[in-house]
Amino acid sequence: MTQAMQKKDKTEESIKKDQQETKVSPPAKPVLRLSPTAWAKLLYFRDHGESEIGGFGITSQDDLLRIEEFATVKQEATMASVSFDDEAVADFFETQVDAGRKPQQFARIWLHTHPGDSPQPSSVDEETFRRVFGKCDWAVMFVLARNGKTYARLRFNVGPGGEVVIPVEVDYACPFGSSDREAWKSEYKANIKADSWLTFGSRRNERFESEPETADLWAADDWLDAFETLEPDQRQLVLDEITSRSDLWDQESEVMWI
Ligand SMILES: [Zn+2]
Repeated sequence: MTQAMQKKDKTEESIKKDQQETKVSPPAKPVLRLSPTAWAKLLYFRDHGESEIGGFGITSQDDLLRIEEFATVKQEATMASVSFDDEAVADFFETQVDAGRKPQQFARIWLHTHPGDSPQPSSVDEETFRRVFGKCDWAVMFVLARNGKTYARLRFNVGPGGEVVIPVEVDYACPFGSSDREAWKSEYKANIKADSWLTFGSRRNERFESEPETADLWAADDWLDAFETLEPDQRQLVLDEITSRSDLWDQESEVMWI
């Protein structure tokens, strides 16, 4: 055997070995990707009010973990929860099917924001994820906190089943659309109904501009009245959320506890 032949054999052997190794190695770790447009819209919704907001990720057909659009439906939101309107969800699904999409492209990725600094899912989030998405082959729960931290978990019910926390990326590599703040604003207005006790922050600011002397007092009374009407477990959620939000504890806000 000539040296050249030996070399060729060696090369073939190493290619074969490489292929075998490739075969047995685990699949690449899944990553949740958002188009810059979907990401920008999510940030806009997160920062437009004081409450959590939620919606669905719409993906391309070829990559079910790449979110091209973020879509909201009618919902009631508090600082610690989001509740979708059933009929609105049904309408959203119907519209998506009419647009030629398959359920795995629009009904598997649940996104919501946290007004606090932690993207860690709450017990309510876990319950919702289990109840609403527990029967899907797979689903993703994604949370974006106020400070930009994210959490994404992929749950799959096929085969042995399991769950894995996956990384999140904004994907600039594919073509993406422009921002449309006017449309987002209208969508926010049409879909997000924040509980009345929650709006004290933004209303306080509006009042503050016109009636600086009475603003704090008015806001505190208004907020406490609304708080009184909540169910005990809702109150606890609110208190938990508030204690974890240091940005609410500026001097101006402390008046509500006096
Ligand atoms: Zn949450």
